[in-house]
Amino acid sequence: MTVTATAIPMLTDNYAWLLRESAAGAVGIVDPAEAEPAIAAIEAAGGKLDVIFITHHHGDHIGGVAALVARYHPLVVGNAADAHRLPKLDVPVREGDLVTFGNTTAELFNTPGHTIGHIAYYFADGGVLLPGDTLFSLGCGRLFEGTAEDMFSAFQKFARLPDETLVCAGHEYTASNAKFALAKDPENAALQARAAEITALRVAGKATLPVTLGEERLTNPFMRAPTAAAFGALRTAKDKF
Ligand code: ZN
Ligand code: FE
Repeated sequence: MTVTATAIPMLTDNYAWLLRESAAGAVGIVDPAEAEPAIAAIEAAGGKLDVIFITHHHGDHIGGVAALVARYHPLVVGNAADAHRLPKLDVPVREGDLVTFGNTTAELFNTPGHTIGHIAYYFADGGVLLPGDTLFSLGCGRLFEGTAEDMFSAFQKFARLPDETLVCAGHEYTASNAKFALAKDPENAALQARAAEITALRVAGKATLPVTLGEERLTNPFMRAPTAAAFGALRTAKDKF
């Protein structure tokens, strides 16, 4: 069995991700910001929705949940510790839990930083990582609630995953992240190549995601930060960039 993820553009620069599991035919969606584009994608995929996976409580990640629950009656999965500010959870989860999806499971990680209760999902079958607003291509989420140390430790969890892992992040921020990354690491040939690819993709109106974790290890200054202090200094610089 395997899990595949397809980006569904939402709002101005959000992506929800449609998940399909091949053995049992399960269908899931991650972080539906709005209902309409989610429904269009679900109908095109067969018209059923088994699971909604939530990474964090921000409106641009949960705005479509209520309408999808009313229409498809999926199970809603999210962080038990954040249940007070999430839509009603059918499956409240904690780090170390395995979440059932069709005949497979997702591992989940606590990834605080952007918010305290932020979590990420990882499907070893298919190598799909859903980092929400923690890891972006060439960047990382803003530190609204947690510290640089929090987010650095979240990145260390991603660093253990295989190179071929597909990073299915919550926003199309890649082009602006590339500008900052190039300013910090101008001699990095892999980054230069990725920046050119990003420009071409955006000109063609295409998504820059998913990207592999191996590519991010070569190009993302936040993935390459050796310490929490270095990570924090980069995040502060990016806030002012
Ligand atoms: Zn957010
Ligand atoms: Fe967001």
